Amino acid sequence: MLPVKTFVFLVTIHKNQNSKYNIDMNSYDVAVIGSGPGGYVAAIRCAQLGMKTAIIEKYSTLGGTCLNVGCIPSKALLDSSHHFEDAVKHFDTHGIELPGDVKVNLEKMIARKQAVVDQTTGGIDFLMKKNNIDVYQGLGSFKDARHINIAGEETIEIEAKHTIIATGSKPSSLPFINIDKERIITSTEALKLKEIPKHLVVIGGGVIGLELGQVYRRLGAEVTVVEYMDRIIPTMDAGLSKELNKVFKKAKFKMNVSHKVKSVERVGDEVIIKADNKKGEEVEIKGDYCLVSVGRRPYTDGLNSEAAGVKLNDRGQVEVNDHLQTSASNIYAIGDVIKGAMLAHKAEEEGVFVAETIAGQKPHIDYNLIPGVVYTWPEVASVGKSEEQLKEAGVAYKSGSFPMRALGRSRASMDIDGFVKILADKTTDEILGVHMIGARAADMIAEAVVAMEFRASAEDVSRMSHAHPTYTEAIKEAALAATEDRALHI
Ligand SMILES: Cc1cc2nc3c(=O)[nH]c(=O)nc-3n(C[C@H](O)[C@H](O)[C@H](O)COP(=O)(O)OP(=O)(O)OC[C@H]3O[C@@H](n4cnc5c(N)ncnc54)[C@H](O)[C@@H]3O)c2cc1C
Repeated sequence: MLPVKTFVFLVTIHKNQNSKYNIDMNSYDVAVIGSGPGGYVAAIRCAQLGMKTAIIEKYSTLGGTCLNVGCIPSKALLDSSHHFEDAVKHFDTHGIELPGDVKVNLEKMIARKQAVVDQTTGGIDFLMKKNNIDVYQGLGSFKDARHINIAGEETIEIEAKHTIIATGSKPSSLPFINIDKERIITSTEALKLKEIPKHLVVIGGGVIGLELGQVYRRLGAEVTVVEYMDRIIPTMDAGLSKELNKVFKKAKFKMNVSHKVKSVERVGDEVIIKADNKKGEEVEIKGDYCLVSVGRRPYTDGLNSEAAGVKLNDRGQVEVNDHLQTSASNIYAIGDVIKGAMLAHKAEEEGVFVAETIAGQKPHIDYNLIPGVVYTWPEVASVGKSEEQLKEAGVAYKSGSFPMRALGRSRASMDIDGFVKILADKTTDEILGVHMIGARAADMIAEAVVAMEFRASAEDVSRMSHAHPTYTEAIKEAALAATEDRALHI
């Protein structure tokens, strides 16, 4: 760890009256704008490296999209709805009899979700205090490359030698859709509905739409998914899309791929969606709620990036070089607001990367090894290259798969859908991609990341002992299948 110089600042401007923290001086080694997983992790790492650090957040709670209206609340509702579905559909098979009908108390379910969010965001407050990071509440906007105005209850100015932009993203929409936040909603509203939709139409078959669609399907809503591409989760390996589509159809989702939505109108409490199908025929779908989950856009509103000489690209992302440095050399950007996957753990890695870069270290991120996860059930997880990517790149590869249904563990828990697929270099046997769908895939993918980080071959993994009975045995079996087509249990 390199020592970080102490900087002498000429001006101390106003003390932040809004801050929950004791702030003596408004000059910093690093100011972080945005307190999502990118921003707060960057701030902690800067503080650990001895830099005087401030974090600026426009909302009253820390944690950004992920903790407030993203990863954490969606997982809380996925878990609650999963328990409900188990009680309704599976308890009886397990020999568990309930005294009466199982009912959903949505208000209580949403309140529990909020309690999880509050506890988690409160944890970030604690971490800021623990690391002596000054927290400012207000909208941060550049005055110039070294000064930031913070508009809270009053406007104050701070000086920062380095700034990290971590302002994240917001839900995007289609130009002809009017999101009224009541019936035509984004993920933010879907996390706090006051009633279970009768028929929820989800525009977009990506991660967020499918996760939230599954929450309400489990709670009893009819759910129709409308996707423009020819498959759901279109950025993942096609085998995963196919299997998840099968599972969703079994759960009576209506899946409409290759449908181009052209209008969304609210008429009273009804939402009417018109789309063209693959043949160019108009299809009309009526629901009482429409969740628009067609992606997210980088968020730089109010940042006044031009004043600091920070350039945006034509997609509205902050432009960065390989060091995540913007066009202003003392300003960096991380997370959803720059190029790349919009994932919390990608933002976190970048936060650490930039903090260490500022401290003079030489950190590294392997973007190929950032796993992608869908927290539906079965869960879907991937790392490395998909079959489609390997084919396109002309890489000679071999593939080994193993179905979850062949595992004792899966039969014990009745989670028999899915498979693990390992793609390995045809000549060297190095693992190039791992794609899985099944129970606990979100956790299991870590094994694949470790293996690939250490450039393991499929044979290396196939020779590792995997505890029995576990879902991870499917990884060993898929590795055996990839190495020599010699899976043991199928
Ligand atoms: C429903 C949903 C579920 C998701 N689930 C997952 C998941 O399971 N796993 C996963 O990896 N990712 C998930 N994501 C994506 C994840 O939330 C984002 O990738 C992640 O939050 C990005 O982190 P970030 O730090 O770049 O930005 P954000 O988390 O968006 O944080 C940016 C923060 O900056 C603040 N801000 C913006 N401008 C200013 C300004 N000028 N001044 C002060 N503050 C400002 C914002 O208020 C916000 O708090 C999910 C997203 C959604 C919507």
